[in-house]
Amino acid sequence: EAKEQGRSTYRFYTAEQTRISRERFELESGLRRAIERDELRLFYQPQAACANGQLVGVEALVRWQHPERGLVPPDRFIPLAEEIGLIGQIGEWVLNTACAQARQWAQAGHPLRVAVNLSSHQVSQDKLFDTVKGALNRSGLAPSLLELEITEGHVLKRVEECIVELHRVKTLGVSLAIDDFGTGYSSLSYLKRLPVDRLKIDRSFVEGIPDDHDDISIVATILSMARNLGMGVIAEGVETPAQIEHLVAARCGEYQGYLLGKPMPPDALQDWMDRHRASHPDA
Ligand code: C2E
Ligand code: MG
Ligand code: MG
Ligand code: MG
Repeated sequence: EAKEQGRSTYRFYTAEQTRISRERFELESGLRRAIERDELRLFYQPQAACANGQLVGVEALVRWQHPERGLVPPDRFIPLAEEIGLIGQIGEWVLNTACAQARQWAQAGHPLRVAVNLSSHQVSQDKLFDTVKGALNRSGLAPSLLELEITEGHVLKRVEECIVELHRVKTLGVSLAIDDFGTGYSSLSYLKRLPVDRLKIDRSFVEGIPDDHDDISIVATILSMARNLGMGVIAEGVETPAQIEHLVAARCGEYQGYLLGKPMPPDALQDWMDRHRASHPDA
């Protein structure tokens, strides 16, 4: 009995393994052709000032428009891209596309800061400087309109290389944000050694506002530290009016989240901007 069960469990396991490895193989070979087949898309999520709701920027978030699977979220293919060495190419596509789009908005009279997420594989390579410079030159975007997002985890892997490279990249005139701030393991001394302009308070801390006292304290601490270090702050994942009310009272600079707007394709964002401007005439 036990033996039989053991065997069937084993069979089930291998079937599952086979399915997973086949799926991975398909994703992998599809991803290798995604760029040349023009299947990658950038969605843009609005970011606004807490105080008056004025639109200050957007975050570019990549998706893969898969011919059979539909829209694949980044968590499903970015780690794979990192593993198989495709992240450099994808990251370059993202930077070029985001800069070109932001330049288009600026030319249409809407200068918007665009934030681009970097993978850890991009950050520690001395190629990052050339990639960012290339994207700025090709698009003609003002460097002050480009923000690069890294996470604390990124820096930990090769600290010294990252610090050197990020300082070089900063000389181009772009800004630098720490994404998911508070969830990583980096020591505060990195914050001192990195040319950071903005901290993005992770969604997990915003989630507990206004009921969780620990989350409220953590958010207050991040705000006061950023203020003392001369850095800006943006709260991620704001979903409720009570959360934004609290952030306004705590004098948080900017926010981003479903309450303001979900990530959307460029045309939809254009419509969103028109509606947003109409409802924020003074902003
Ligand atoms: P992230 O950079 O922290 O991006 C924020 C994620 O939270 C996005 O998920 C966004 O859609 C989601 N989000 C925004 N507002 C809310 C909210 O109010 N509630 C909730 N529940 N979620 C919200 P998304 O687009 O699936 O991206 C996931 C992660 O994938 C990103 O986290 C980022 O780490 C990574 N990623 C996205 N685009 C790129 C890219 O171009 N390159 C690299 N290397 N990574 C990327
Ligand atoms: Mg981000
Ligand atoms: Mg984040
Ligand atoms: Mg994240």
